[in-house]
Amino acid sequence: MEKIAVFPGSFDPVTIGHESIVLRAIPLFDKIVVAVGVNADKTGFFPVEKRVEWLKKVFENYPSVEIKTYEGLTVDFCRKNNIGFILRGLRTSADFEFERSIGQINKQLYPEIENVFLLTTPEHTALNSSIVRDIIRNNGDATPFVPKQVKFS
Ligand code: ADP
Repeated sequence: MEKIAVFPGSFDPVTIGHESIVLRAIPLFDKIVVAVGVNADKTGFFPVEKRVEWLKKVFENYPSVEIKTYEGLTVDFCRKNNIGFILRGLRTSADFEFERSIGQINKQLYPEIENVFLLTTPEHTALNSSIVRDIIRNNGDATPFVPKQVKFS
């Protein structure tokens, strides 16, 4: 059976931390679906269409990486799309505690799923999308933190 993983998140915007996790996971899976979670009550900083467009550009040369959006539970998305693995990055012990609880609940909701965690490389540990948004809001230069395909202007 094909090994398909989902890398779920908000990617608001995609950072070099996200990019690194996906690139490192490519050899592990037949296919990786980078899935932008859409919440009808919560609009992000960047429109979903923009986030998807950036992700598509970042991974355009990697045929096993697909970009999708989804609403609702990640495990329902997995069931519908034959996805057997949830891929997440672990930066800190706080990430671990957060991921442990959603990972265990997801496994209870959908026992066929396996959670796969990759440890962030040290240089990406301090990075997250909310820091990037803060830099942009305050007219700083966020380009060192996002893949080269992401252009803010
Ligand atoms: P969420 O909205 O759940 O925080 P994100 O879009 O921020 O989702 O992140 C999606 C995934 O990317 C998570 O598994 C998160 O741990 C991982 N991630 C976020 N930032 C980094 C980073 N700097 N290095 C490695 N992984 C990261």
